[in-house]
Amino acid sequence: MTQHTSYTVAKFGGTSVADHLAMQRCADIVINDPAVKVVVVSASSGVTNLLVALAAGRLTEPQRLDCLAQIATIQYQILDALARPAPLAALIDQYLAQIDKLSKQRQQACEDGAVSDALLSLGEACSSALFAEVLRQRHHPAICFDARQVMRTDSHFGQAEPDLVLVSDRVQQLLQPLLAQQVVVTQGFVGADSDGHTTTLGRGGSDYSAALLAEALQAEVLAIWTDVDGIYSCDPRLVHDAKPIPELSFDEAAEMATFGAKVLHPATILPAVRSGCAVFVGKSRAPEQGGTWIRQQVQSTPGFRALSLRRQQTLLTVHSLNMLHARGFLAQLFAILAKHRLSVDLITTSEVSVALTLDNTGSSNSGSSLISAELRAELETMCRVEVTEQLALVAVIGNQLATTAGVAKQVFEVLEPFNMRMICQGASPHNLCFLVDGDDADAVVQSLHQRLLPT
Ligand code: ADP
Ligand code: ASP
Ligand code: MG
Repeated sequence: MTQHTSYTVAKFGGTSVADHLAMQRCADIVINDPAVKVVVVSASSGVTNLLVALAAGRLTEPQRLDCLAQIATIQYQILDALARPAPLAALIDQYLAQIDKLSKQRQQACEDGAVSDALLSLGEACSSALFAEVLRQRHHPAICFDARQVMRTDSHFGQAEPDLVLVSDRVQQLLQPLLAQQVVVTQGFVGADSDGHTTTLGRGGSDYSAALLAEALQAEVLAIWTDVDGIYSCDPRLVHDAKPIPELSFDEAAEMATFGAKVLHPATILPAVRSGCAVFVGKSRAPEQGGTWIRQQVQSTPGFRALSLRRQQTLLTVHSLNMLHARGFLAQLFAILAKHRLSVDLITTSEVSVALTLDNTGSSNSGSSLISAELRAELETMCRVEVTEQLALVAVIGNQLATTAGVAKQVFEVLEPFNMRMICQGASPHNLCFLVDGDDADAVVQSLHQRLLPT
């Protein structure tokens, strides 16, 4: 009979598993909470960036070798501190040899998403194998589980979409039965398509992996352990006196994640909403400091809660006289964008033009490279196209924003010295968004924070 069914899925980000000491702190968290039965890890800090550089296939040979050496140094530091158990040392060497082989392949051949994703996945392969050993050496039974067995995705390499039904079935069949005996440590960010090719979920995707596993296991808590002690009223790197938020609603957190609060991958909240799983965000270096709880219902719902910023936004403006009194123009435009796998963020329309921003979340692209030559050519068959780059999307996040008098005045008063390119409000009670020049972004956010969220 299963004894313990109230699971916590704990996810540790890159800085939390950066080295042996950081991994030991994560082990303390796991060992101190018997509800933690599944651990999802990112690659150790910096490793995915190095793998991305290798996957681009454009390095000189000395640069490639330098990347390999940097990756090996990170893994060996942890392995040495664990006294190099032979099977684990052999496994890490095998992963490093694969990185060498696949990166050579990328230098020699043209773009190949399957090879790139196989390469990118190896950071998490190493960190998960190492972290399971850290737990075992602390006498906490743990196994390393290959996430590709359960995280079935489509074949969009670099930005693969998990199949929710298959993931859930497989988790229940293959992963859940293991939890009675030990903690399962697995890779975030990594999946496999129906042909067994390794895929990845997009940068920062480990949060999403953990949320999907929590949903499939009907976990009570999803704990995201990172390098900040919770979600703040703005990125603390940008606004130094940003305030920690003890409790946040799913709606508010989802808006923050969507509009640039890097602390949560944008897709993290949806599985939690569907399954009713509470999400905790805390700092693995200092768990005693507490963090942010994200739930369906919260005690306080202030008008202004937080600010988010997304840099390097692309504004696409299309003009066509055919739009005048026409039906279906937007449908046609959106169909083209969908075909090119672009999702639209903000949109405003006039009589003969439409302006929209394109979501570059999780993509390695930014700016106008989102708009490929083929996409532009296709759009130009139906309209005149204008692309503006280097903009920043600022989101004011809160409650009842669309139905409270005076909101616009308070926000726009502060923005008097700045030029705004686009304003969107009304679709959600939880946000008011606008675009500003990239160079003004920091000043805009800092002044707004001072006005709307004073300490
Ligand atoms: P991890 O590697 O653990 O996934 P990330 O770097 O992805 O960590 O996310 C943590 C970072 O998110 C923080 O260091 C912080 O700079 C940034 N961040 C952005 N917005 C916020 C916010 N509103 N509150 C807290 N952190 C934020
Ligand atoms: N390691 C991946 C990245 O750096 C995934 C993650 O950390 O969430 O993007
Ligand atoms: Mg992250």
